[in-house]
Amino acid sequence: MHTAHTEKTALRPCPVCGKNQAEILTTMRYAVLERSPLPAASDIVCCLACGMVYADTPGTQADYDRHYAGFAAYEQTNGIGSGTDENDARRIEESADWLAARIGAKNARIIDIGCAQGGLLKALSRRGFSSLAGIDPSARCVERLKAAEIPAWQGYLGHLPAECGKGDLVVISHVLEHVVDVAGTLSALHKLLTPEGKVYIEVPDAAGYHNMAGTLPFQFIHQEHINHFDLPHLAMLCTLHGFGVSEIVRKSIGDRHDIDLDGGRGGDFALGILLIQDKQNKLSAPSTCREDRAGLKRHIATYILESQRLLAAQAASSLSIEIKNRPIALWGAGMQTQRILATPGWKETNIVAIVDRDPNKQGKSLAGCIIEPPEKGLRHLPDNTLVIISAHHYAEEIKSELAMLDADLFAIILKDNPHGIPPPLKTYRYHGNPRRRIHRPPSRPPRRAPYLPHDGRRRDVPERRARPPNRAGNHL
Ligand SMILES: [Zn+2]
Repeated sequence: MHTAHTEKTALRPCPVCGKNQAEILTTMRYAVLERSPLPAASDIVCCLACGMVYADTPGTQADYDRHYAGFAAYEQTNGIGSGTDENDARRIEESADWLAARIGAKNARIIDIGCAQGGLLKALSRRGFSSLAGIDPSARCVERLKAAEIPAWQGYLGHLPAECGKGDLVVISHVLEHVVDVAGTLSALHKLLTPEGKVYIEVPDAAGYHNMAGTLPFQFIHQEHINHFDLPHLAMLCTLHGFGVSEIVRKSIGDRHDIDLDGGRGGDFALGILLIQDKQNKLSAPSTCREDRAGLKRHIATYILESQRLLAAQAASSLSIEIKNRPIALWGAGMQTQRILATPGWKETNIVAIVDRDPNKQGKSLAGCIIEPPEKGLRHLPDNTLVIISAHHYAEEIKSELAMLDADLFAIILKDNPHGIPPPLKTYRYHGNPRRRIHRPPSRPPRRAPYLPHDGRRRDVPERRARPPNRAGNHL
């Protein structure tokens, strides 16, 4: 793979300035789920007029809406934005404190667009805010919010129910990077605001992707992330659509695995911006918002090169030998899996099972496999099957779940390493260790897989005592 530098007339106009002449930075390909409305390939381009970097996707807003209503992972009870994971919870509490300090009255109307599990709204409710509303494309998310007695509606910005009312604060957090029709979204925001209403937008900071390039190739460039904002471009977008920048906040929200891997290297991974309405365009953006519009392309180009280098290193590593010579079961059918299955080296592998906890994915076909729940899909696999945990955000949870399944399987976590060098192949062998079998008292009941019913409650998983790495399992 190499980085092509060719110009094109983009299929999709620039989400910031609306022009359509662009430079191709790279082309991404994906294995897609059966019946998925998303395209299997798109160019990552840089707008020649303003320097914004985005996916030149042939998909329409309607295609993406359909994807989020029926294919996305945000409705899982431990999904992103649910606040159930420690790092996610900390991030939500911090956001709630920051916003609470900027909202006057406790009865101010706060509308969260793309609220997912409603973690932020619940945190604001705990701080005494009483007029809350959530909007999300997922019916399941909306039901869960209603169950928590927070008014919620299924919908998209631009298609909102009248009962939702107008907001004194509209929050649109980690949504804008997913939207095809960015201009339409910004215009729709005005209609949703009271005259003094404010908007809080938060997005991943694309200028910081390259700080995390070593953790997982192309982690931030996938089918769902189609707009790659840095501060100058986000501010420019808002200014062009009648908003004034009132305050800027940078956050370190990298998921906990990245932070662990990076050994606290840190960096700013998210960008928050508080906006006031400025339809006459009287306000000028703070100077920090105007500097270096060419920086984004440089940062993303570095990120793409680092990711490509890591992919090439993987292709040459022990991982590549392992996946070519063994039956593979993949745990995780999300964006990461859809990306890796389209990379050379993976296409020719012998994938015998793909499992996922997301009921939206189960039963659908990916790379010729029907996605099944783990309890079903990981049974009766060929000897020597290698389970690859390919679900970046949930890797640790899956690792412990795999340990609970009485599976005679080797597993590796596809998470790579912080330094861009192929990692030593870490494998864990769970329960297949013959010594453990021999010493297991015959009266002991079999260990059972934790059952995760889809009613939203995770049954307590018994605590496992830490045990030293299994020597037999560390070497294949
Ligand atoms: Zn542009």
